Amino acid sequence: MKNFTYKSPASLKDASQLLGDDWSQSIALAGGTDLLNLMKNEVETPTRVVNLKQIKELNKIEYNSGYGLKLGALATIAEIAAHPVIKAKYRVLHEAAREIASPQLGNMGTLGGNLCQRPRCWYYRNEFPCLRKGGDICYAIDGKNKFHCIIGGGPCFIVHPSDMAVALMALDANVTIFDGEKNHTVPISEFYLLPEQDMYRETVLKPGEIVTHIYVPDVGSGEKSGYFKFKERGIWDFAVVSVAVMLRKKGKTIREARVTLGGIAPKPWLEPHVSENLINLVPDEDNVSAICDQSLRNAFDLGQNGYKILLAKNLMKRMILKLAS
Ligand SMILES: Cc1cc2nc3c(=O)[nH]c(=O)nc-3n(C[C@H](O)[C@H](O)[C@H](O)COP(=O)(O)OP(=O)(O)OC[C@H]3O[C@@H](n4cnc5c(N)ncnc54)[C@H](O)[C@@H]3O)c2cc1C
Ligand code: SF4
Repeated sequence: MKNFTYKSPASLKDASQLLGDDWSQSIALAGGTDLLNLMKNEVETPTRVVNLKQIKELNKIEYNSGYGLKLGALATIAEIAAHPVIKAKYRVLHEAAREIASPQLGNMGTLGGNLCQRPRCWYYRNEFPCLRKGGDICYAIDGKNKFHCIIGGGPCFIVHPSDMAVALMALDANVTIFDGEKNHTVPISEFYLLPEQDMYRETVLKPGEIVTHIYVPDVGSGEKSGYFKFKERGIWDFAVVSVAVMLRKKGKTIREARVTLGGIAPKPWLEPHVSENLINLVPDEDNVSAICDQSLRNAFDLGQNGYKILLAKNLMKRMILKLAS
C-alpha cells in the first residue's frame, strides 16, 4: 500500500474541502471494507484518506409515518438489517441487507460505502491495465466473463455489486449528496451511470461530493416487497443474479410495480417491460410468466454468461408470484 495522510474531520464541509477536486489524490473512507482492499492492491492510490465516521449527523436511521425512511450514509449494514421498522415495512431492504456478507462486514460496512463500492471485476481488482483503469482493452470480452453483465454494458462489462442499491431502486429511493456548499437530491435511478456515460466512475458523484442520506418514501397500503439473491456458493457471496420487487395491490389487481435486477448490468437494472406490464394485472402463473419471458430483449451473451438471461427471468417470475399471492 502506498503512503497517505489520514484526516478525520467532524463536519461535512471540512470533509468535502479535504476531499478536494481530484479523485486520484483524496478519497472518502467509511467502514473501509472495500477501500482498504483497493488500496492494498494499489487500484486506488490516494495521497490523503478522509475518514467520514466522525460526522455524527450521518449515523441516524429515522422513520416518520407519512414521510418515510431517512437513512444516514454511515448507518451500518447490520443496523439496517436489524432495524424493526425496516424489517416490518421495507422487507426488500431488510432482506437485501441481511444477505450481505459476514457479520464482521455488516458491523463495519456502511450504507454509503455499500452504494459507492467499486466494481468486483477480477481484471479491475488485479493487475490488469483495463479500460476502466485507463488502458485500451476490456479483458472480459475474450477472457473470463461468467459473472459479467448481460445488459447495459459496453465498452466495459462490469456488474453493479451492491445488494442494497437494487432493493432501494425497487423502493424508488432518493440519494442526498453534499457538494461542499449545499445538499441536492437525485433519484437512485439517476445516481448510477453506465460505462457509455462514464468509463471511469459508476455514479454521478463529483470529486469532493459526499452521500449524506437516502430517503425512502413511506409504504402505501397494499404494498409488499421482497429480495432474492442467487449465489454461486451457499454461504455469503455477491449476487450472480438478484431480484428486488415492490408490488402494490388493490384487491386482486396490481396497481404499482417496480422490478429491479442485480448482477446483470453495470447499474441496478429497473426492468421497464415487467414493471409496466404488471400494472392493472390480476396476476397468475401464466400471465406473469408471459411478461417475464418477454423481458430483457436486449440482453446478450459474452460467451460464458448467457445463463444469466434465463436465471433473471425465472427469479423475477418467482418473486412476483410470491408477493402477489
Ligand atoms: C468478502 C466480502 C464480501 C462482500 N459481499 C457483499 C455482498 O454480498 N453484497 C454487497 O452488497 N456487498 C458485499 N461486499 C461489499 C461490502 O458490502 C462493501 O465493502 C461495504 O458495504 C462498503 O462499505 P464501507 O463503509 O466499508 O465503505 P468503504 O470501503 O469505506 O468505501 C467504499 C467506497 O465508497 C466511498 N464512500 C464511502 N462512503 C461514502 C459516502 N458517504 N459518500 C461518498 N462516497 C463514499 C469510498 O470513497 C469508497 O470508494 C462484500 C465485501 C467483501 C470484502
Ligand atoms: S469489464 Fe470493465 S473493469 Fe472488467 S476488464 Fe473489462 S473494462 Fe475492465
